[in-house]
Amino acid sequence: MDLIIRNVHRVAAPDEGPVDIAVADGKIAAIGPNLAAEGETYDAGGRLACAGLIETHIHLDKSRIIDRCPLPEGRRVNPVTTVAPLKAAMTVEDIYTRAETTLRECLINGATRMRTQVEIDPAMGLRGFEAINALADAYRWAIDVEPCVFPQDGLTNYPGTEELLAEALKAGAPVLGAAPRYDSDPTAQLDRIFALAREYDVDLDLHLDVGDSTEHMDVRHVLTLTERYKLGGRVVVGHMAKLSLMPPAESAAMARRFADAGIAVTVLPATDLYLMGRDRDHDVRRGVADVNHLAAHGVTCSLSSNNILNPATPYGDCSLIRIANLHANVLQVVGAAKLRELFLMLSEHSARLLNLKDYGLEVGKPADIVVIDATTPEQAIAEIRPPLAVWKRGRRTVTRQPPELHTPSA
Ligand SMILES: [Zn+2]
Repeated sequence: MDLIIRNVHRVAAPDEGPVDIAVADGKIAAIGPNLAAEGETYDAGGRLACAGLIETHIHLDKSRIIDRCPLPEGRRVNPVTTVAPLKAAMTVEDIYTRAETTLRECLINGATRMRTQVEIDPAMGLRGFEAINALADAYRWAIDVEPCVFPQDGLTNYPGTEELLAEALKAGAPVLGAAPRYDSDPTAQLDRIFALAREYDVDLDLHLDVGDSTEHMDVRHVLTLTERYKLGGRVVVGHMAKLSLMPPAESAAMARRFADAGIAVTVLPATDLYLMGRDRDHDVRRGVADVNHLAAHGVTCSLSSNNILNPATPYGDCSLIRIANLHANVLQVVGAAKLRELFLMLSEHSARLLNLKDYGLEVGKPADIVVIDATTPEQAIAEIRPPLAVWKRGRRTVTRQPPELHTPSA
């Protein structure tokens, strides 16, 4: 064997005792207790292991620009109009450098797969797409990065945007996104995006339903289009902050419609907390959709970072485990079972949401393995325990030493 990782608890097998994982040719060759195998050995000491954390929704191309943005005046913020004037000056090199710094932090925090949103419009051109593709190539040794191209500043009101999106799709972009809220005609934007998805046979991952009222929800049109185009299982909606404004019976009914239609949901707690409730100066609503509640009604959910150090998400360290802990605090999550479910929304459930067929700590799958400094998923989330070691396709990519306390000798 090329590698044997001994004595781990698999996240997806909570009732199983500690096992060993043997790796050959970049794949998992055997799993079981006390494997009789020889090779380079890592003793995980009974710690938790998963097949890597999955960042399902991040914007590498506009991370680390907070110092270029003016401070907001008053309570209302609009991150999109704040960033738009900066885009013309963003070169491929500038985007690559910022995105790379963020990507490396994601790696250290245990990510082995990622879907990153990439803005395309006449101001940005295809420079973001070019930078992210180059970065994905350069870091294939550590992570699989999938770009989702989308129009941030409007589609129907921004001539030239659709042509550029089509160019990126022709060049192989595997996923298409949308941001109907920033279009003068949100419904028409969704119509065009679904038409493009059919034409280029790509999955969809849409920014949806952030706002102060549930009066209009774009997801209703997305439900209709998903059914009309038979795209069930290939549509993700991100944010969905408006679900948090509904009484549980109403959001449960909507969740069941998502589950029936095959629409998955990514919740982005850091961004939604920062942006929602800006119409109030006290008793501010939190605006984070409850993923445990959605999952209880059959929806595939993930939790992700969305961004760091930019005007929509000014803080963060690229730790998905921290994001799940934040979610648990904000949603007042109680009990080990729900915390365990939150961990799955950084891993197994995220893989299902992204339609990844080769994810998991199972024989025959790629040897993407992350050992976390915890014995259970619920402990990892409750205590924000860090990854200690990461392998991608059987090759060690990250080592983190636990901090050491130098106690004085007696
Ligand atoms: Zn986003």
